[in-house]
Amino acid sequence: MTSVAASITENQFDVAIAGGGVVGLVLAAGLRHTGLKIAIIEALPKEQALTKPQAYAISLLSGKILAGLGVWENIKDSIGHFDRIQISDNDYQGTVPFTKEDVNELALGHVAEHPVILQALENCVEQCPRITWFRPAELIGFTEGEKHKQVTLQQEDKEITLQTKLLVAADGARSRIRSLAGIKTKGWKYWQSCVAFTIQHQAPDNTTAFERFCDTGPMGILPLPGDRAQVVWTMPHHKAHSLINLPEADFIGELRQRIGDRLGEFRLVNARRLFPVQLMQSDCYVQPRLALIGDAAHCCHPVGGQGLNLGIRDGAALAQVIATAHNQGEDWGSLAVLKRYEHWRKPENWLILGFTDLLDRFFSSHWPPAIALRRLGLEVLRLVPPAKKLALRLMTGLLGRRPQLATGQR
Ligand SMILES: Cc1cc2nc3c(=O)[nH]c(=O)nc-3n(C[C@H](O)[C@H](O)[C@H](O)COP(=O)(O)OP(=O)(O)OC[C@H]3O[C@@H](n4cnc5c(N)ncnc54)[C@H](O)[C@@H]3O)c2cc1C
Repeated sequence: MTSVAASITENQFDVAIAGGGVVGLVLAAGLRHTGLKIAIIEALPKEQALTKPQAYAISLLSGKILAGLGVWENIKDSIGHFDRIQISDNDYQGTVPFTKEDVNELALGHVAEHPVILQALENCVEQCPRITWFRPAELIGFTEGEKHKQVTLQQEDKEITLQTKLLVAADGARSRIRSLAGIKTKGWKYWQSCVAFTIQHQAPDNTTAFERFCDTGPMGILPLPGDRAQVVWTMPHHKAHSLINLPEADFIGELRQRIGDRLGEFRLVNARRLFPVQLMQSDCYVQPRLALIGDAAHCCHPVGGQGLNLGIRDGAALAQVIATAHNQGEDWGSLAVLKRYEHWRKPENWLILGFTDLLDRFFSSHWPPAIALRRLGLEVLRLVPPAKKLALRLMTGLLGRRPQLATGQR
């Protein structure tokens, strides 16, 4: 088989990644030792991209992928880690504690703020001379060539044209590339919105994450360094809108009613932000010379903190598929190669989309049989160790096929 020749002219690339968020940069970092010439196109200026006030639960598998990329050492002391997750259902007395011992790991999960993880990935890719940034630059269109895609960018007041053997859409939930490619999606908007914010508290121990289910929606509380916690509070739209607009003291009062005194005294340390919630799965993740990753391909309910973790796995999986094809002299932009990525990731993402949807619906239900069944489910999780381990392996990412990056192989 003949090798696909590397590109040589200035605006010809082997892979162009539109979207320099965490997911796009995981892919870029995963490809940095392949010798492929890579473009990263990011619409936001660097300073703006690095100030997004969001924090994410980072699963054990995502931690291993970040370690495989060499960025873990640089972030591990600046992020939160939790040893336990406590799950509770409304005012039901039985809570299910999951602990790190259940999975034989040093922690059960991690919590990273967006600037910390994005900066570490940026540092990693900036060391690679084969990676070129276009920023701030917006992808505004593309056309098909026989062996490449021709991509048009808007950078300040000028248009730039690039050629690439593969265009990757890492441009988020409202992906322009997905629309331009005519890829349809399935899914729905939830009846709920999320209010996300950070608090500083006085709990003596900051190593427990909480997932509290309530009939209006779940609330996740994730430990951050410096006695802080990221809270994601899901509730019906009208309630979420009114909470966002409440004076801070009243908002704290509502929050206290919901979480009790488990965190001692607390105060808000950043603004409350409102997010709509949706489930979305693209009909396909790939076309010839095109692949979707992260939120461009799928979105899920934030219960369980899975969205970014799925995207990190997409990025690592696609990097592996491209690198393997490149080593074997195959055309990594061909549909046959890209289908390997889709066959790997789409079913695994469906599983989490379905599971998080079920969790939200089941735990918000007022229907007595559903209430009885979920309490039985909690008791099963509490009392039957294999059931608990299976649920944990699913939510920590350890159940599916692991990218080589997570296993220490390249
Ligand atoms: C309240 C809330 C809490 C969440 N909590 C968690 C959690 O705990 N754990 C978790 O795993 N996930 C969580 N998620 C999900 C997570 O935020 C997303 O899944 C994740 O941010 C998606 O990353 P991405 O890189 O795919 O997309 P994005 O972060 O949206 O990045 C897309 C990038 O593409 C750029 N871009 C867009 N269009 C263009 C264009 N035309 N040209 C060039 N660049 C472009 C954008 O500027 C952006 O930088 C949460 C979501 C919400 C709403």
